[in-house]
Amino acid sequence: MLYTSLKDKNHKINFEKAIIKGLPPDKTLYIPNKVPIIEKKWINNIEKYSKNEIALKIIKPYIEKEISKNKLISILNKTLNFSLPIKKIHDNIFTLELFHGPTLAFKDIGAKFMSGCLEYFYKKNKKPITVLVATSGDTGGAVIKAFHNIKGINVIVLFPSGMVTGIQKKQLTTLTGNVVAIEIKGTFDDCQKIVKKVFLDKSLHKKKIFTSANSINIARWLPQMFYYFYAYKQIKKFNKKIIISVPSGNFGNICAAMLANLMGLPICHFIASTNVNDTIPRFLKTGKYIPKKTIKTISNAMDVSNPSNFIRIMNLYKNNITNIKKKLSSYSFNDKETLKNIKKVFKKYRYILDPHGAIGYMGIKNYFKNIEKKNKIGIFLETAHPIKFIKKMPNITKKYIIMPKNIKNILNKSNKYIILSNKYKEFKNWLLKNN
Ligand SMILES: *Cc1c(COP(=O)(O)O)cnc(C)c1O
Repeated sequence: MLYTSLKDKNHKINFEKAIIKGLPPDKTLYIPNKVPIIEKKWINNIEKYSKNEIALKIIKPYIEKEISKNKLISILNKTLNFSLPIKKIHDNIFTLELFHGPTLAFKDIGAKFMSGCLEYFYKKNKKPITVLVATSGDTGGAVIKAFHNIKGINVIVLFPSGMVTGIQKKQLTTLTGNVVAIEIKGTFDDCQKIVKKVFLDKSLHKKKIFTSANSINIARWLPQMFYYFYAYKQIKKFNKKIIISVPSGNFGNICAAMLANLMGLPICHFIASTNVNDTIPRFLKTGKYIPKKTIKTISNAMDVSNPSNFIRIMNLYKNNITNIKKKLSSYSFNDKETLKNIKKVFKKYRYILDPHGAIGYMGIKNYFKNIEKKNKIGIFLETAHPIKFIKKMPNITKKYIIMPKNIKNILNKSNKYIILSNKYKEFKNWLLKNN
C-alpha cells in the first residue's frame, strides 16, 4: 500500500516512511491511496475468526510485505492482549468497552501497535527515532506505556496545564528512561501546534528523526478499525441494522470507523458525539468550518476544537458534505447533560458510564429519538474507564467504581515532569539542549 498526502496525489510513500515521517511535507495528512475491500464472504463468517485473526485480515493490506506475516502476528499478539467486550445497557443500546488495556483507554491499541511497528523498523534501519506527542489526556499515557523501554526510541509527551486528571497525570509522569512528559502552560491545541511546528522545522531534522504518535499517524489511526469489526462480530447474530456512536475529539477513531465501513463492514450509520467543543456538529449543520476557542469539559480527552482527522473523512468522501451527512450525524452535549445521563444510567441500569462514554450514549439516544428503532441496534464506544475521571463523577457512582490493579500501583509513585510555556521557541531550546 502506498500513502499519499491529502493535497498532493503525486507524493507517494510506503507504510514505513509514512509512519516514520508522521506528516507529509505539505502539512496535511497521509491517507492510503486506495481502500482495500474485504470479501463479503469473509465478513459473513466473521464469528469464526479470533480477535487477532480479524486484526491481521484488516491491517495486512495496509502493510503488505513491509512487515512479515509472522512479525505482524507477534505485534498484534502484544497489542490485543486484553478483552473488548460488548455489553447491553438497555433495550437496543449496547456499549463496546475499550478500556480494559494497560492505561484503561482505547488508545492503548493504536499506541502499542505503533510501538511494535517502529521497534521493527528501528531494528531494520538502526536509526534512533524520537516520538513526539500532544495529548489532551489519554493519548500520552497510552503512548508512554506502549513505548516504555523500547530500544532506539525516545518519547516526548506534551500535555496542557490543568486539563488532565490526577490519574492521567500519574500515567503521564511516573515512567522514566526513554520517556519524558512536559506540561505546557496552554491548551491541547497549543500542544498540538508545537508538535506540528517541530515536524516543519527543517533545522531540527538534520540530526534526528521525529515522528508523531497522535492519531494523525497512520500506525495509530488504522488499528482503530479493529473495534468496529469486533463490535460487528459480537452483534451480527441479532440481524439488525447497526448504528455506532463514537465519542469524538480529534476524530481519528470515527474516521477509522468510516474507513472500516468503506472496506465493506456493514454499518448503517455513524454518530460523532462531541462535548461543547462542537466544530463538527456546527459544520455539518451550516457547511461552515469555524473552530472556536477550546472549552474545558469533564470529557477532557475530547476538548479539541480543531480536530485534525476530520479532513481525512472529507477526503474519504471526496469532499462531498451531502454524502458525508448520509453516513454521519454529529451532536454535541454539555457537562450538565453528561452528568445527568451518567446518574440516570447508573440508577436505572446499574452501568457506570465515564464522561466520554456518556456522550457516546447520548448521541445514540438522540439519533433514536425520531426514527423507527425496531430493526436497529445502537452501539456506543466506552473509550475510557470511569476511574480516570473519578473526581468529576457523580457522587452516587463513586463508591461503585472499582480501582483496577494497574492504577493502584502507580498512585504512590512521584510525578516527574518538566514545565514549559506555550511558545515554540522555548520548547525548541529545551529540545536542542536535551536531545
Ligand atoms: C482520545 C479519546 C477520545 C476521542 O478520540 P478521537 O479519536 O480523538 O476522536 C474519546 N474518549 C477518550 C477517553 C479518549 O481518550
